[in-house]
Amino acid sequence: MRVPAYIAPAAAAPLAPTIIERRGVGPGDVLIEIKYAGICHSDIHTVNGDWGPQPYPLVPGHEIVGIVAEVGADVTAHRVGDRVGVGCMVGSCGRCADCRNGDEQYCREGMIPTYGGADRDGTITQGGYSTHIVVDAGFVLSVPESLDLAAAAPLLCAGITTYSPLRRWGAGPGKKVAVVGLGGLGHLAVKIAHAMGAEVTVLSQSLKKQEDGLRLGADHYHATSDPGTFAQLTGRFDLIVNTVSARIDVDAYLALLAVDGTLVNVGAPAEPLSLNVFSLIGARRSYAGSMIGGIAETQEMLDFCAARNIGADIELISAEQINEAYARVLASDVRYRFVIDTATLY
Ligand code: NAP
Ligand code: ZN
Repeated sequence: MRVPAYIAPAAAAPLAPTIIERRGVGPGDVLIEIKYAGICHSDIHTVNGDWGPQPYPLVPGHEIVGIVAEVGADVTAHRVGDRVGVGCMVGSCGRCADCRNGDEQYCREGMIPTYGGADRDGTITQGGYSTHIVVDAGFVLSVPESLDLAAAAPLLCAGITTYSPLRRWGAGPGKKVAVVGLGGLGHLAVKIAHAMGAEVTVLSQSLKKQEDGLRLGADHYHATSDPGTFAQLTGRFDLIVNTVSARIDVDAYLALLAVDGTLVNVGAPAEPLSLNVFSLIGARRSYAGSMIGGIAETQEMLDFCAARNIGADIELISAEQINEAYARVLASDVRYRFVIDTATLY
């Protein structure tokens, strides 16, 4: 099946329209007519080669929602016409301890990423900036009816990436949670942590988005460009979720944690981050990382968001605006997720 898509021809080169080939629908597969695809900062890191060489040309996109167009003979969980989503993974071994534990993202054999990875047939996976995709049914999520489809797209990566650590480290009533960086991940972290009942603080570079932050559910908002912020908030938080796509001063943020507090890094900058162990030792603090979430947990997150009417705040764009959107994300000028209307790919 030949379908329109937007492709990165080489590292750091502008994306351009193209036609790609999708595999035939196997017995366990679902063919999805993609309606919307979110632009994640990870797409930009990948296209720019921040994380090392990539198999260009490459179609990014792992925040995919659409409608089931065809199912294979063995598929029972999804039917033609269903509203579905696909996130950052399209396969894993299914047998290792981590897969069996619902942590497919940490599969010992390596999960199959939605783009830029070796698919089970040996071809390179191509992502969601496209009109159609064929995916193993086990990696297809159900998007509840009550969610606006375009606003649901970013939940498939930004939503689960923030939901998973918030759940794991116990965001809820009585917990003080800080979110560093109010971008795509950050704004969903604020909504979800607030919905879980935590007291939420945004730590943004400036106060430019303060009104938005409070509207999204934050109780407090501080500018990290103001050194007074770090003095004022020392020892304050139980959990800090760092969504920043660039280097931060890890020690300065660790100092904001209470005894037993945890700083979870979900931001994935190209450069290594370093810390002084005394920042941990002095208050039994932890520094952790977290990558997306498992398939069952992703469905749990979608249902959680549907029950609380949480979608992303999006700017819907046409395919020809993708390069401009990339530049705006890099300039921290995103409010708060760009989503591609794939009808504009035809
Ligand atoms: P985004 O929309 O660009 O948001 C990142 C935010 O970080 C910006 O809006 C900005 O917020 C802040 N920021 C950017 N540059 C900064 C700098 N130099 N210093 C301080 N703050 C800065 O990106 P995103 O899509 O949310 O993704 C964020 C990061 O998470 C990326 O590195 C991405 O690859 C990674 N990611 C990881 C996972 C995972 O599984 N762990 C999943 C998805 C994405 P303010 O303007 O409010 O300061
Ligand atoms: Zn992503």
